[in-house]
Amino acid sequence: MTSQHWPEAYKKLGVKPLINAQSWVTSLGGSLMRPEVLRAMDEAATAFVDMTDLNRAAGEVVARACGAEMGLVTAGCAAAEVLMAAACMTGVDEAKVEQLPDTTGLKNEILIFRGQRNRYDGAFETSGATIVEFGAGDAARPYHLESAFTDKTCAVAYVIGPFIKPGLGLEKTIEIAHAHDVPVIVDAAAEVPPRDNLSKFIRMGADMVAFSGGKGIGGPQSAGLLAGRKDLMEAAFVNSLNLDSPRAGIGRPMKVSKENLVGMVTALELFMDTDEAALIAGWRTKAEYVARRLEGIEGLGVVIEDTPVDRQGPQPVIYFERGWTGPSPSEIRQTLKDGDPPILVGGGGVRDEINIVMVNVQDGEEEIIADRLLEALAK
Ligand SMILES: *Cc1c(COP(=O)(O)O)cnc(C)c1O
Repeated sequence: MTSQHWPEAYKKLGVKPLINAQSWVTSLGGSLMRPEVLRAMDEAATAFVDMTDLNRAAGEVVARACGAEMGLVTAGCAAAEVLMAAACMTGVDEAKVEQLPDTTGLKNEILIFRGQRNRYDGAFETSGATIVEFGAGDAARPYHLESAFTDKTCAVAYVIGPFIKPGLGLEKTIEIAHAHDVPVIVDAAAEVPPRDNLSKFIRMGADMVAFSGGKGIGGPQSAGLLAGRKDLMEAAFVNSLNLDSPRAGIGRPMKVSKENLVGMVTALELFMDTDEAALIAGWRTKAEYVARRLEGIEGLGVVIEDTPVDRQGPQPVIYFERGWTGPSPSEIRQTLKDGDPPILVGGGGVRDEINIVMVNVQDGEEEIIADRLLEALAK
């Protein structure tokens, strides 16, 4: 999407396209949907259907992809977080579903390792639940979790994401939570690809797992996946979509349109059939191209990294060494952003490095990125 290509729909609104080398971030639009997905959404827009039936049917596609007893398409991973929390508090009890976000008389405490707090976990509390932290600083020991359980604990939340600390690890967390008969709910929003992660955490014993639909899976930006244990998933369903009840549940403001339901399952099915090795090889080719263009610059260390969880796909990471005398990383990021087209790059993770994430870089844009990086570095 170079400066030559300004889609009319955005032009009319005066909003310019940009080059997204920052990954599947919400702030830059998630991902681009494939033409097959858009066609399916177009088609879905031409007829009425029973929305309960459509949600159930779409949920079955999610369940199969995730190897889970039951699945649901949600309005994003954050919406799935709301529903996971609600499900753990209410079960399928309609009176409890109706009372949320008032949690009087309900188990309402969600335990989370302090090192996994993140900007999205407020979604758990949107349900009415209360987050209770455990752990000491960046570390957690089994006794930290053990001693955090009370008769109000309804779930243990576990978050997997770039530079989010593993704490006890998912396996140990599940072992301890299950010994206390408490479910483990997982936010793995941006952890696919690899495709195997769709089912991995459920295989490990997680009770419910949530993913973004509009990140690596390439579905609508406002869609997501929720999958897990049948009883809890039915509870999530009632909280989101009990269309016959007199009072809509906590999930009502997060409904998923028929077009998004169809778009999401179409994207998911395409994703399941994608040649993942070829996809990653494409990212690597772009990464190597940019790294090659940056070779031999005094004071810069350019490394191609693809560490699972922390780095989304092979990407050049630019480390600024002691000998670097040029502009600061934040000045370089600003220069790239101020140019035409704006280029948005990753803000590091380890130190103040710059990482150029390739998952959303369209063919040919890697050349623009390399040209503009060389200019910005020389400024
Ligand atoms: C992106 C993200 C979310 C939010 O996902 P949406 O699908 O945009 O609602 C939640 N948690 C983490 C860790 C994320 O990276």
